[in-house]
Amino acid sequence: MTVAPPPTRSLTDSFGRRITYLRLSVTDRCDLRCRYCMSEAMTFLPRAEVLTIEELADVAEAFIARGVTKIRLTGGEPLIRRGAPTLARMIGRHIGQGLDELTLTTNGTQLVRQSADLFAAGIRRINVSLDSCDPDRFRLITRWGKVEEVLEGIAAAKAAGLHVKINMVALKGLNEDEIEPMLRWCAAEGHDLTLIETMPLGSIDEDRTDRYLPLDAVQRRLAERFTLTPLDDRTGGPARYHRVEELGARIGLITPLTQNFCAGCNRVRVTASGRLYLCLGHDDRVDLKAALREGGRPALDALLDGAMAIKPLKHAFRIDRRADAPAVARHMSVTGG
Ligand code: SAM
Ligand code: SF4
Repeated sequence: MTVAPPPTRSLTDSFGRRITYLRLSVTDRCDLRCRYCMSEAMTFLPRAEVLTIEELADVAEAFIARGVTKIRLTGGEPLIRRGAPTLARMIGRHIGQGLDELTLTTNGTQLVRQSADLFAAGIRRINVSLDSCDPDRFRLITRWGKVEEVLEGIAAAKAAGLHVKINMVALKGLNEDEIEPMLRWCAAEGHDLTLIETMPLGSIDEDRTDRYLPLDAVQRRLAERFTLTPLDDRTGGPARYHRVEELGARIGLITPLTQNFCAGCNRVRVTASGRLYLCLGHDDRVDLKAALREGGRPALDALLDGAMAIKPLKHAFRIDRRADAPAVARHMSVTGG
């Protein structure tokens, strides 16, 4: 593998937004079945359709060569794919050579075994999804997950030198009473916390409207208990951060429904099957796999320019009982969250 040359032509969409952040899905498969994410009987891509580890690394390099400075490995659950540490190493070689940061979003179940490898690959910050610290609730939300495994994974990640941010999807009637305890736990453990509004992506076994918890209301409730000072910090993602003064902690809010964040979008996503999606909330895409397999890196590179022209201005998410289908048929686990 060769080191990508410095970018000569950056990727800019038709609204003048520079694309510097790639979320790369390692696999659409998962060892959990979080209720808001997928149905219990979720079907996954046939293995033949999934890019090889080398092809995923090729895609990453093509983006780095065009000015992408941050890559997040995601899925599905990225760490259940056997080649995940190899991929992290292959991409990690570009850190400091065009790539500023390689990160990962994980459900944490494999972190006890893999944290040291991730650190060795150059990863320094990871997001771990943790919607509840209560064993029964965690099992209810994930359908069969064991929270102890994830908590041990988080401790292993910390011990390996990884900075951990906790992602918590705010779910009405399921974990809303755990938001403040989670914030206190994160503050005590030195983790940032990001709350996420549930998004209408893909069919699940229940009605998302029942679980939708608008974060503007959560923020108001937290502000009655704590002093929330808005921060300018952006980590390249969509979260808006506040410092919780009394706890010395940082809380991020991802509010696609209550406060659209698309104006500053710098992101694109590539699925494990090599589809480049220009927006989480739209179907506009280009097939990088066909280009890569038929024309190699030059063909892939040429496609990226065409792709920029079709990046939509913003998503059109809406959670509402009158909408009888999700805004986008594709699950977050397919696009790469
Ligand atoms: N499996 C890994 C995990 O759970 O962290 C990575 C992939 S997961 C799709 C990435 C993030 O998307 C997780 O924080 C998850 O909670 C969130 N997520 C999944 N489906 C969602 C939805 N419909 N609305 C909002 N967030 C969602
Ligand atoms: Fe799996 Fe992550 Fe979706 Fe949960 S949110 S089912 S862990 S992909």
